[in-house]
Amino acid sequence: MKILVLGSGGREHALVWKLRQSPRVTALYCAPGNAGTAQLATNVPIKITEHQKLVEFAKSEGIDLTVVGPDDALAAGIVDLFQKHGLRIFGPTQSAARLESSKVFAKEFMERHGIPTARSGSFSDSSDAQRFCQKAKHPLVVKADGLALGKGVIIAQNSWEAGLAVHEIMDVRKFGDAGKQVLIEEFLEGEECSIHALVDGDSYLLFPAAQDHKRALDGDQGLNTGGMGTFSPPSKLLTPELEERVRREVLDPFIAGLKKDGLDFRGMLFPGLMITADGPKVLEFNCRFGDPETQVLLTRLESDLVDLLEATIDRRLAQTKAQWKTDSAVCVVMASGGYPGSYASGKAITGLEQSQDGITVFHAGTKAEGGKTLTAGGRVLGVTALAGDLAAARQRAYAAVDGIQFEGRQFRRDIAVKGLSA
Ligand code: ATP
Repeated sequence: MKILVLGSGGREHALVWKLRQSPRVTALYCAPGNAGTAQLATNVPIKITEHQKLVEFAKSEGIDLTVVGPDDALAAGIVDLFQKHGLRIFGPTQSAARLESSKVFAKEFMERHGIPTARSGSFSDSSDAQRFCQKAKHPLVVKADGLALGKGVIIAQNSWEAGLAVHEIMDVRKFGDAGKQVLIEEFLEGEECSIHALVDGDSYLLFPAAQDHKRALDGDQGLNTGGMGTFSPPSKLLTPELEERVRREVLDPFIAGLKKDGLDFRGMLFPGLMITADGPKVLEFNCRFGDPETQVLLTRLESDLVDLLEATIDRRLAQTKAQWKTDSAVCVVMASGGYPGSYASGKAITGLEQSQDGITVFHAGTKAEGGKTLTAGGRVLGVTALAGDLAAARQRAYAAVDGIQFEGRQFRRDIAVKGLSA
């Protein structure tokens, strides 16, 4: 079977790494990929935005299955285009992917189908939004409707900050058309948890949970990032009782809602949850694998990923089971100095050649040049460790991180600390 993975981040390296282990895979490609995917697959120099070229490549190479990594490709309708050409592809259609690409659409879906979420108002007129900010209780969360690389969410401590956020999103159009509408939500207190479930439109297959670390600095300080590290399972946070509530209150109504609304969602659903004193509440729906959640989840997956992806596309999830390692996994992201602000690229990375037991180094922003591996992005590597328990996985991950150097490297020292028993 020939498989093409689309994307170039740590998530895509993890997908390629797991797919490579399948005896069913005869050829593996990644477009455009990075220095890590190049070691396991053939990198194809086509950008993720060049949909027509990707279709032509899939046809000419006889690709049997394409797996989409990033959200913007889904939002731009790549699945619809591949399907139109009779090509098999994993991911929701453009209209179903609106659950991620429009926060207003997602909120209306949740409200219509009784899925617990923060109370909110949505506005397409900035004066109305400003008036709402003056009256509402603070803190408030102001969100640009569309995709904004994780930067379109502002937590406002008072009405002045909320008003400024509305002005920047709607009037200045800081995030372009993503700011045509704005969603203003109540601030939820609690701890965040990442849920992943394969969804085939009729049924779902829940993955183990993971916990991300969004802020740049230790102790959840500093700016929001794409994610500085993850661990799985977060047993202290997501107890079996809470997991049952997530099934009953989020996933069951989600499937019922898809059916009622006639949405073709066959792909990965990754709801970001806030675990509040009242139980789980959905912060957002992502319609693809998380990054860096995928790095820990696929490290723990025993089953063949190809089987799971095919069962999703063919609507066989109700009869499909997945096997998981009982071990814990920890992923520590090593980033370029200055990330998520401006940073330098092209720094030589050393220490990658030493292979260590239980460690997989997933590449994100890297490129191979002149026999060296160079930094080529904000998040550079996801050093991922597997061990019998969380404390051991954490220790193992940091021992490996210490052996990898590049100028200005930056990482958090406290990944998974919140998951350790007191
Ligand atoms: P991502 O980078 O995950 O794609 P996003 O831009 O799609 O982010 P959200 O996930 O909705 O936006 O919000 C980003 C972060 O803002 C959340 O991870 C959470 O920390 C915080 N947040 C969002 N909504 C709320 C809320 N109602 N209450 C408290 N915090 C919130």
